[in-house]
Amino acid sequence: MKTDLDRIRKDLENLALFNATPGKGLTRFSLTPEDRGARDYLSGRLRELGVHVYEDAAANLFGRREGGDPSLPPIMMGSHIDSVRHGGNFDGQAGVVAALEVLRCLEERGVRTAHPVEMIAMIEEEGGRFGAGFFSSRAMTRGVTREELEQRKDEDGVTLAEALTRFGFDPARVAEARRKPGEVRTFLEMHIEQGPVLEREGFELGIVTSIVGTDLTRVTVEGRPDHAGTTPMDMRRDALRTAYRAEQLLEVGPVELDEGIRRVLQDQADGLGFSWRAMSSGAGHDAMITAPFFPTGMIFVPSKGGRSHCPEEWTDYEDLQKGVELLYHAVTAIDSRGAKG
Ligand SMILES: [Zn+2]
Repeated sequence: MKTDLDRIRKDLENLALFNATPGKGLTRFSLTPEDRGARDYLSGRLRELGVHVYEDAAANLFGRREGGDPSLPPIMMGSHIDSVRHGGNFDGQAGVVAALEVLRCLEERGVRTAHPVEMIAMIEEEGGRFGAGFFSSRAMTRGVTREELEQRKDEDGVTLAEALTRFGFDPARVAEARRKPGEVRTFLEMHIEQGPVLEREGFELGIVTSIVGTDLTRVTVEGRPDHAGTTPMDMRRDALRTAYRAEQLLEVGPVELDEGIRRVLQDQADGLGFSWRAMSSGAGHDAMITAPFFPTGMIFVPSKGGRSHCPEEWTDYEDLQKGVELLYHAVTAIDSRGAKG
């Protein structure tokens, strides 16, 4: 029995409707009406399944299917539902849809896992609205502060704290989203490759070994525009010649993903007869934030022409389904073997 290609396609197409720029790529910023629409759509599908739907204090959406042993931490899988401006339909949401489909298959097949299995839909991974990249995964692991929520503003001056409040969350409680090491058995993220390697080399899937570091710095340049022809050079306050200050937003070193989880992914991919390649990720992902806290694994599916963060971003649904298959088998293997992280 395989995962259902039509359902995967339908979920992706439906989610893509929650878009602030129809016809000009997908734009779904965090804590906007489009975010609300996507959240409601996913919640609806999860409720149909009969799993427990909840949100944490950092606005992460979860669908939780209980396991047989209440003492065990959840196997978590998912990705982000925010996008860049004029992005594509696959970055982030493909991984969320994959997680939803895995929950559906577990339910339909009546699989009894020992661990709870959770789908997570994260926000503000791209930092498109507030510049708060990897917000959800940071909130779950290293933690975000109330101060950060007050400092981050969108282009209209709305703070992240205000946006959370308008969405029904209490910014004062954001620290409650934090989970301690051991509180999550593993985090698995399926994501588009965002590069041309898999397609060019003819591999069906990528199994990520490491993720490059990210150093996100906001440089504020202060100056005054003066007419270049009329103001003498030595009297101008040229922005690049005068004051600037740089604010360190986020620094993450390169991270290795969990070896035990990688082995599970490799074994399962072999068992399914998929051709796969070990590869490092040149782009940052929530998985690099969770990796130091929970055993983390990442699956890449091919990106047509390596394009991403643009309306042309595409992954064939048949290719995507292979990633979902691997995710499903990894979840059940980790659950039954209790693969050591
Ligand atoms: Zn992404």
